[in-house]
Amino acid sequence: MPRPPDSYSELEVSELYCAKCKRATPVRQRLLLILPSGNKYDYTCSVCGSSVGSKMDDDTSAFTILPPK
Ligand SMILES: [Zn+2]
Repeated sequence: MPRPPDSYSELEVSELYCAKCKRATPVRQRLLLILPSGNKYDYTCSVCGSSVGSKMDDDTSAFTILPPK
């Protein structure tokens, strides 16, 4: 069964629907949290500045667990 290229699921979000602006607007991505399970990003409307969504990814490269002593 053919599957979409890996890059398909990693499309960068550039526009999201904003409830305040009542239309899709360009968003700013902000790294919110770095967790052992991945990073959490927050998306903010670049027009009115309100939060329009968030996303988790499973990139754990930014998180380093210190070895036990
Ligand atoms: Zn907005």
